[in-house]
Amino acid sequence: MTIATQLSLRNISRRYGEQRQWFAIKEASLEIESGEFVAIIGPSGSGKSTLLNILGLLDNAWEGTYEINGVNVDTFSRTDRDMFRSRMFGFVFQSSYANPYESARRNAALGPAIQGESLQTQSQLVSDALETVGLGEKGESLARNLSGGERQRLAIARAIATKPRILLADEPTGNLDSEAASNVMGLLRELNQRGTTVIVITHDSAVAKYADRILEVEDGVLRAQSQAIAQVLEVSEKSAETASSPVVTTVKTSFWHSLRWWPEHAIRAINNVSSRPLRSATLMAAFAIAMAGMITAAGIGASASQQIAVRLATAALDEVRVSVPVGSNLETRMQSAQTIKHLDHVLNVGIVAPLDALTASTSRFAQFTTVGDTVFPGSTAAVDEAALSLFEVRTHPAQAQELFADPTAGNIALVGRDVAQGLGISEGGIGTEIWVSGRPYSVIGIITDAPRAENLVTSVVVPVRSLPEQPSQLIVRTESGFSASIADAIPLALSPSAPAEISVSTTGDLRSLRVGVAQDLEGLLSSISLALLALAVLSASSAMFLSVQTRIQELALSRALGLSQRGVAAVFIWEGIIVGLAGSVAGLSLGLAASVAVSAVQGWSAVMPWATLAVAPLVGILSGALSALFPALRAARIDPAEGIR
Ligand code: ADP
Repeated sequence: MTIATQLSLRNISRRYGEQRQWFAIKEASLEIESGEFVAIIGPSGSGKSTLLNILGLLDNAWEGTYEINGVNVDTFSRTDRDMFRSRMFGFVFQSSYANPYESARRNAALGPAIQGESLQTQSQLVSDALETVGLGEKGESLARNLSGGERQRLAIARAIATKPRILLADEPTGNLDSEAASNVMGLLRELNQRGTTVIVITHDSAVAKYADRILEVEDGVLRAQSQAIAQVLEVSEKSAETASSPVVTTVKTSFWHSLRWWPEHAIRAINNVSSRPLRSATLMAAFAIAMAGMITAAGIGASASQQIAVRLATAALDEVRVSVPVGSNLETRMQSAQTIKHLDHVLNVGIVAPLDALTASTSRFAQFTTVGDTVFPGSTAAVDEAALSLFEVRTHPAQAQELFADPTAGNIALVGRDVAQGLGISEGGIGTEIWVSGRPYSVIGIITDAPRAENLVTSVVVPVRSLPEQPSQLIVRTESGFSASIADAIPLALSPSAPAEISVSTTGDLRSLRVGVAQDLEGLLSSISLALLALAVLSASSAMFLSVQTRIQELALSRALGLSQRGVAAVFIWEGIIVGLAGSVAGLSLGLAASVAVSAVQGWSAVMPWATLAVAPLVGILSGALSALFPALRAARIDPAEGIR
């Protein structure tokens, strides 16, 4: 039987303390051969765990020389250490550190998963390991439903699933009753007989009796290597096969190999997120609110602009307003109207003189009889019949418009549907007398609809010929799409010598102004939701940062099992991505519902901001990852030896 020296410590010391340093381990020398079963005993606080942490590469702040299979540990890079922990050592601690919310299988798969084994291999290794520790039947049970002894056997299964050469056990029976304890020790003995080197730390001499060799630590000094108990206990021969096999596996650190791990990191992250539903839901809610705000802003903004655009589009394409110089009389205005009407692509030209409230002083009764009269609730305008027709005004009765056009009809008025009531004029109240600008007018009809000048339904409209001195505008209706070119042509046509005196505007100018306002609104809402998003990132980040503290043991265990710092960080980033994505998808639905609701209330047709919808999940992923960045860096720095004590 070939026995090779596997672990060799020479003059190893470990100091603690800042200014006043003291030795937790002092100049310890020790050789452990392949296939041995060694117990390290000593009272609490004597330095046993410190020694085990050094042996298992969980600690590296020591002095002295440590060789594994003849290779000096000093030459190992950080990745080498992670790899050695992952492939050479198995760890069993006093507490099982099993994740209570995961199945026994999932818990036992931690090591092979960290090694990047395929799911199929993981499954095989886990089955073998569970079978070995007698938990073959309990693979699907949640760890929290296992007894203390079973959980410790699960911890052993987790340790041996990676087929380690050396099993390091720190008080493995510390929490167990004597029956469960002898069960666990019997198991370790069995593993040792199959060729695994076993190093057990204990303060219990009954446990130590299972070992071939007992070392004793007191006050940091590795005292005596007591007589080999093997001779007493009659140990069966160990298989030389495993004992002499080479252990330094090549480290697979290629980019492609690390890529192979990403589903494992993602699966772990999904497990972490789903096993803490309340915390995850709170984090997701923060992202959801921000995202809902963003989608609502985009949705309402788009619907509003669309609404405004639709209302103005027609007018913008075929309507021009011309302001006639002050002082020009009605006749000149009518001549101008005729001139414009003769331009190509002009359909009709109307005259409109909006009257200010003081000039109009419209009322139901003459001024001197208006005691107690209510204030007139609308506006007053003087127009010609062409304006009525180009505004597409409809009246009741329909022939009222013909009468309106009749120059011999005298002082007559049309009353908008909405003001008729205010003036106390009922449907059948044709012929009622109202007063405009101090003169009586006889109502000849009610304006029921005016799609191209909606304000007319809240106005009293009188013929422009009855108020010839009022300053007025010419309203030009063109063929669709010609408003801009006609607007350019009108000043020259009316005043070839001084075209600048004529000011024209198309409703298009107005439209761009209104769209601009809608965009301002959208911008404002977006910046508010961006602020919300920043807040979500901040709060998620701080919550995750705090959670690192409560997850120290879980993270330290993964590190002990060889998960690299990058791996720990990756799991956190994945958690952030999952939370951010789920939150943003929830927010997206909420935001859509909100914008549809707002549009419905406003009577608009809801417009989906597709671009925003498409980028929302991406924004969720990025902001989630961002929020996990600092927690990930913090988690990656967890010292495995500190975390598991
Ligand atoms: P044992 O495992 O024998 O109970 P430990 O190896 O855990 O003892 O500890 C040995 C001594 O080193 C104890 O006095 C303990 O308080 C101290 N010690 C262990 N780890 C640290 C640490 N990270 N910082 C300071 N002192 C420590």
